[in-house]
Amino acid sequence: MKNNKVYNFIICGGGASGLYLAYNFLKDNYFKNSKILIIEKSKKNSNDRTWSFWEKNYGLFDDIIFKKWDKANFNSQNFSLNFNLNPYAFKTIKGIDFYKKIITEINNSKNIEIIYDQILNIRSLKKNSEVTTKKIKYSGEIVFSSIQSPLKKKVGFPILKQHFIGWFVKTENNVFDPKRIVFMDFDIVQKKSTRFIYVLPFKKNEALVEYTLFSKSILKDDEYENGIKTYLKKINSGKFKIIDKEKGSIPMTAYPFWENNTNNFMTIGTAGGWTKPSTGFTFFNTIKKVDKLINHIKSNKPLNNFYKNNRFIFYDSIMIDVLYSKNEIGGEIFKKMFKMNKPKLILKFLEEKTNIYEELKIMSTFPIKIFLTSLFKKLFKRY
Ligand SMILES: Cc1cc2nc3c(=O)[nH]c(=O)nc-3n(C[C@H](O)[C@H](O)[C@H](O)COP(=O)(O)OP(=O)(O)OC[C@H]3O[C@@H](n4cnc5c(N)ncnc54)[C@H](O)[C@@H]3O)c2cc1C
Repeated sequence: MKNNKVYNFIICGGGASGLYLAYNFLKDNYFKNSKILIIEKSKKNSNDRTWSFWEKNYGLFDDIIFKKWDKANFNSQNFSLNFNLNPYAFKTIKGIDFYKKIITEINNSKNIEIIYDQILNIRSLKKNSEVTTKKIKYSGEIVFSSIQSPLKKKVGFPILKQHFIGWFVKTENNVFDPKRIVFMDFDIVQKKSTRFIYVLPFKKNEALVEYTLFSKSILKDDEYENGIKTYLKKINSGKFKIIDKEKGSIPMTAYPFWENNTNNFMTIGTAGGWTKPSTGFTFFNTIKKVDKLINHIKSNKPLNNFYKNNRFIFYDSIMIDVLYSKNEIGGEIFKKMFKMNKPKLILKFLEEKTNIYEELKIMSTFPIKIFLTSLFKKLFKRY
């Protein structure tokens, strides 16, 4: 094996977080003389996922937005709410457009290189970190990794998953409102777990329909798919054609992902805990975290100082504990949350922009007994 090509920064995994971090290195003059390497195992030439998020005003990726909406619906048994998202817009971008945009800019740059190879091992040493691929060994003064590895069980940190299958469908009947997303529809059989339908309508007869769970274990594919079929029948879609599919399982946990970070090695993206634990949304969090990380690197602080717990991780962990121990009441909790609070406040809370009074109002939505039990478990690490 060839040995030790040396870089200032190595980014392991060129997906959402790896490419976005590289893009920020590229746009910042401070790094113009840094030698940067991305190692990615796949060519990123297919649309392997779509990313949706809510955002105020113009955003960095508005030039590649596939569709945006300013209206939404929350639905559950005996309660339905249509609402305006203003001042937010819900935006969707296709993975392939994101990859193309960033990889094109990187290919035109002088100091960032992408290598397509499989990483076998990453080792953090005293002064640098080493990355071993199938073909070669690289050395980086600083190494970031977005490669997920299985999480070891840890007392006090239950792990749920946001898992789903989504179908991009074209239906016989015009059953979708192209101006309004279905943020969550809990009016489906819950089977003692937290399940909902999520719809992104592109046209009156075209949409992404996703059958999603927040729960411990993934299901067989046909259970999600039957859920989508049942929903389409319920809304009277008529015959439909599946244009494309997506499938995912994202960890929802307040797990301390940063424990193994060192002064020259750090996990990023989902692997680094950048997924919002209580929702599974990651894309917008990644944008926010990378902005902070760039400033952190420029101030020469060690990487293992990057993470600071805030009160939002505490709220997230309470939510995860509640859903972990009483998964069957998830739908009721979300229903109460949307019944008792303005949806804009909920989005602001999930964006971690609320003040403590607003947060107390939202947290008071939780059934008090269950909230206190979770708080007790959290404080005394009982699981
Ligand atoms: C189908 C799907 C839809 C999603 N939709 C949304 C959404 O709408 N909104 C939202 O906020 N979040 C969404 N997510 C969650 C999250 O935003 C994405 O998973 C996002 O891609 C996470 O970014 P990342 O950089 O952590 O991981 P990734 O984007 O998965 O990047 C990791 C990269 O590492 C590479 N890699 C892995 N192992 C190796 C190895 N050994 N050697 C070299 N390279 C390797 C992979 O090929 C990949 O490109 C979705 C996830 C999925 C799976």
